[in-house]
Amino acid sequence: MKRILTLLFLICFILPAKAINELDLEDVGIAKYAVLEAKYDFSPVRILPDENAQRFTHLRQNVAIYADKQTKDFFRIDLGDGNYYWAEKKYFEVQGIIPEKRIQKVDKISFNQDKKGYEIFIPLDIYNAYSFKEEPWGLEFKLYDVDAKNLEIKNKPGCVNYEFKDYTLTLRYTTPALFGYDAKIDKKGLYVYLRKAPKIKPKKPLNNIKIVLDPGHGGEETGVCAFGVEEKDVNLKISKQIRKALKKRGADVYMTRKRDKYTPLYQRVAFADKKEGDILLSIHQNSLLNPQDVVKKHGVGVYYYNPQAKELAQKLQDELVRETGFRDDGVNFASFALTRPTNPVSVLVECGYLIDKHEKEMLTNKKFQKKFANALTKGVENYLRYLIVF
Ligand SMILES: [Zn+2]
Repeated sequence: MKRILTLLFLICFILPAKAINELDLEDVGIAKYAVLEAKYDFSPVRILPDENAQRFTHLRQNVAIYADKQTKDFFRIDLGDGNYYWAEKKYFEVQGIIPEKRIQKVDKISFNQDKKGYEIFIPLDIYNAYSFKEEPWGLEFKLYDVDAKNLEIKNKPGCVNYEFKDYTLTLRYTTPALFGYDAKIDKKGLYVYLRKAPKIKPKKPLNNIKIVLDPGHGGEETGVCAFGVEEKDVNLKISKQIRKALKKRGADVYMTRKRDKYTPLYQRVAFADKKEGDILLSIHQNSLLNPQDVVKKHGVGVYYYNPQAKELAQKLQDELVRETGFRDDGVNFASFALTRPTNPVSVLVECGYLIDKHEKEMLTNKKFQKKFANALTKGVENYLRYLIVF
């Protein structure tokens, strides 16, 4: 919450467009552009030069972008769409300083389709920047700094259309229910994955659905400590009950950790990606900076980042509030490592506040943990049934 307020404060008061121009912007070198390469998967590009600012896109490792100016910690990125974006220096490496952007020719792209979705292959020598944007009608994908004047498209489905303008190739995927998307690169080029909502059986919606379950924290990273219990242990115990409940209803469940073990965030995200999960549930217990505030703020809450995950968050929250009797701590937007993945559809559940004596008693009680797990499972089933209409 504090972060969101800080961000709002920054946007409203400190960093309006005019103020950015007044920042100490320096040239990137003797020529106009610095070629930057993403050092890691999901390296963020933001809308403001602030580490908490909203992400415009994130890029796979080795994808290149062009910066025309720099501050102490950020590069200013020019994607050719009339806006400026910002890349934090720690995530990017300078490959060279050049007078002009290298425009990549794109002559053909091809579509492959199976029952899970579409794979779009774009042959590339230079991995130029791309972005995804969720829209009420579906998904917009853009590939920047390309020349696609003579584009030939193979096997294009009717639900995808394209446009080439101002060195940007745009693909629009029209779908009533977005259910995961991603981009990957290899030596040959860029692959864009657009998933279809799965075929759901109304009576057994979880049949053949892959759920990645992520018990938060572990090892030396304890999470919240209150009343003699550590969050990492509560997360794992509840997650094991959730696994049991989900499996009983037909789901395939994969856990990012099965025991008390330190597991870095990027490893959890990579695990979910590798398992090709449909849904990612990260399980946590909440706390507050000032424990006295727990009188007013406590209960169960679900967090999402990508709009496509909001319906899942809402369906989980409805069941959890109804079944646990906990205070409704809301369906909340938050940028966490485990809410940001676009594939699987990802949410983070704060089961309750461990610093609240009553909730701590409940959340460490095995019978209650089972009840919680069943409610969560019902919420996932309701979400999957909601996808049937599409
Ligand atoms: Zn936590």
